[in-house]
Amino acid sequence: MTALKDILIAQIKSDGPITLADYMATCLSHPEHGYYATRDPLGATGDFTTAPEISQMFGELVGLSLAQSWLGQGAPSPFTLAEAGPGRGTLMADILRATKMVPGFHEALRLHLIETSPPLRAKQQATIGRDDINWHTSVQTLPIQPLFLIANEFFDALPIRQFKRDGEVWRERLVGVVGTNLAPIWSDPVAPEALMHRLSDTRDGDIVELHETAKSCAAHIGNLINTCGGTALIFDYGDWHSLGDTLQAVSNHQSVDPFTIPGETDLTTHVDFEALAQAATPAKYSRLTPQGIFLERLGITQRAEKLAQNLMGDALNTHVKAYQRLTSPKEMGTLFKVIALYPDGASPSPGVEA
Ligand code: SAH
Repeated sequence: MTALKDILIAQIKSDGPITLADYMATCLSHPEHGYYATRDPLGATGDFTTAPEISQMFGELVGLSLAQSWLGQGAPSPFTLAEAGPGRGTLMADILRATKMVPGFHEALRLHLIETSPPLRAKQQATIGRDDINWHTSVQTLPIQPLFLIANEFFDALPIRQFKRDGEVWRERLVGVVGTNLAPIWSDPVAPEALMHRLSDTRDGDIVELHETAKSCAAHIGNLINTCGGTALIFDYGDWHSLGDTLQAVSNHQSVDPFTIPGETDLTTHVDFEALAQAATPAKYSRLTPQGIFLERLGITQRAEKLAQNLMGDALNTHVKAYQRLTSPKEMGTLFKVIALYPDGASPSPGVEA
């Protein structure tokens, strides 16, 4: 029994079942008992690991791609260098190190991080080690100036709603109380406007997901980029157009039931890149590109060979494995994808295509 389970059961008994979005938001971000609010979940000893934690090469290449976009757009100054969901701050630290040699980039950048978790904010401060970091709880408060933003495994943590098709209507997945436990249940039939267009590409019993928080976040980023200039590189697992139940809970690198120990497991869903891209209009979006291809185009193989020259034994083995893990189609290379948002009239960042 977790504290959050008690809180949710009491709330549901008093006010009725809650949407999956409310359940996810509470589990991940409850200020006292939420998953991210209470821990640093990353790394080999945590629940999951991410590309920047696997190798410095990821952040270095992402940094160079961002800097190239900044140069291509006339090196605007000042500009916002932002990261949404920076975890331990490793990716941003690697971006800052890799861009030191880009003339004018560091003088022009203003650093903004979107992060809700107090322990992770502290970790980001320690890793990045600058005294000019501006934190936000949402993208909505970013300054109105050119925005160069990166997000890795951020959008997958944003709350979603799920619906199952039942004839010509839908039933929403809610979280209710069954016996002494939390359990998913289906609502009475509903017909949300946002799902009307999915009647043409789904069949009875299919599950579809609505990404309202992710879409409003992408809309704000797209608007800022299209108005002020900049770009966003968004990495995550997911695909173009979502279908099916993609909710998963992970604890200690293992899949677990999402409803048993709320607040103690990481909850994620696949990102629907089509929904993000469309929400970001009038900004343009690149082709959805597998992470491995993006990194290869930016020269990860040459960078890996260069770094390997100074390594031996276990360190060399770990480095080679990290390179494979980031790029191989059998590992993160195709499961993870990247999309770039950029202003109408500009070119997309190196590594992706229009
Ligand atoms: N980008 C990092 C960490 C990914 S984990 C990496 O690649 O290693 C997800 C990150 O998003 C964490 O920093 C988490 O605290 C943050 N996060 C999750 N939900 C959030 C929300 N609604 N608003 C802001 N940050 C959020």
